[in-house]
Amino acid sequence: MRITNLNPDSAIGASSWLAELDGHRLLLDAGVHPKREGLDSLPLFGKIKHEEVDAIAISHCHHDHIGALPVAMRQFPKAHVLMTGLSYLIAERVLHNSVNVMTKQRAELGIKEYPLFTHDEVDDIEPRFQGFNYNREVEWAAFHKTRAGAVSPTLEFYDAGHTLGSAGVMVRGGKETLFFTGDVSFRDQTILKGARFEDVKADVLILETTRGNHATPPGLTRDSEVERLAVAIDAALKRKGSVLIPAFALGRTQEILAVLALLTRAGRLKHQPIYIGGLGRVFTEIYDIEAHRTHRQHSGLQLREALNIIVLEKGQAQKMKLTGGRIFVVTAGMMSENTAAHDLAARMIGDERHSIFFVGYADPDTPGGRLKKSKPGETFIFSPSIGEVTHRCDVQEFDLTAHAHRGELLDFVGEVSPRAVVLGHGDDLARAWFAEQIRTRHPRMKIIQPQPGETVEA
Ligand SMILES: [Zn+2]
Ligand SMILES: [Zn+2]
Repeated sequence: MRITNLNPDSAIGASSWLAELDGHRLLLDAGVHPKREGLDSLPLFGKIKHEEVDAIAISHCHHDHIGALPVAMRQFPKAHVLMTGLSYLIAERVLHNSVNVMTKQRAELGIKEYPLFTHDEVDDIEPRFQGFNYNREVEWAAFHKTRAGAVSPTLEFYDAGHTLGSAGVMVRGGKETLFFTGDVSFRDQTILKGARFEDVKADVLILETTRGNHATPPGLTRDSEVERLAVAIDAALKRKGSVLIPAFALGRTQEILAVLALLTRAGRLKHQPIYIGGLGRVFTEIYDIEAHRTHRQHSGLQLREALNIIVLEKGQAQKMKLTGGRIFVVTAGMMSENTAAHDLAARMIGDERHSIFFVGYADPDTPGGRLKKSKPGETFIFSPSIGEVTHRCDVQEFDLTAHAHRGELLDFVGEVSPRAVVLGHGDDLARAWFAEQIRTRHPRMKIIQPQPGETVEA
């Protein structure tokens, strides 16, 4: 089979792959690059402009996997879109939100090509989305003519445990199979249970490598990190300071809310307002409403009932009083400008009573990344709009990742036992670690790292 890497960057970038087997073509993910702007953030769709794509499969609804979907659908007007039933509930919300964010960036940053698609376009493509249950095999090329006697390839979603609706994708052709991990967590999170990838076997494996450059310290568990976070929140509230936890609206926000709900239930946190963003509220509702059909823990835990959740209004973050102990779980995870997390952090950094807790990755070139790197007492440029700040507040990092630890992914490679493994969705050092480990453990396995835009025979 042939695989084309459409990620425009050799780092994590935007997830998008073209897989060709049995004369059919399937696009796996259509993400945008979170650190690039305008057309540069898109996958390299131009590399496949003469190809016809039968279908598009989306692994999950994070922007780096779905954010370019309307652009892909414009280029491939016959392709229908397959995703899990849970992603089906989320996809449209994410895309409409993207239009709003891009429209704002056009006005504020002068990026002329924004928005890359419109609200009308999102409404128009939505009827081409199809949602499927996990572990149901569906034909994806059935709408196009197949050669006489040829078998139509199928696809099956496997629960990836990464965020609500997340999936690994099994593609079965007449002779060969391909498994695409998407983003995966093998460990249970506070709400979502770990991936159900137990019986996966495939000839070719496309592997996410996000944490390849990150060793997990011995003894570190999710429970020990949650406990450390509980103690840190308590300390900040005792100082009458506020707590800011920057988080993605989908997934991370609900996991943190669940931590807070369990602490409240255990009497370790007093019942108090928890401020979140508007999109975070939408996904929190979907987590609650779909609890019964989600592979999760605490299935009876309804976040909206367990917590006093308040949606921050536009501009409110710049004005509200921060002393007296408030808790904010708001976007953006990396504190990019024009977000509530950015505006709150700018007000909190210089005051030692406040705490800012990172619970996910923050790229070093973002305001969040610069804050994370700074030392207490150090003055640094936080962002172009805020300029210099002095780091006086409490800044801590907690490993509550929704990605597999690298050793677990390496074990998974052994279980799948593919003929070839394609390394993606990680930076150079992360992929290099996997390449070396796989070479040592499985010397006969072919290791492929296609460059941006490169097509490989796998
Ligand atoms: Zn993700
Ligand atoms: Zn991702």
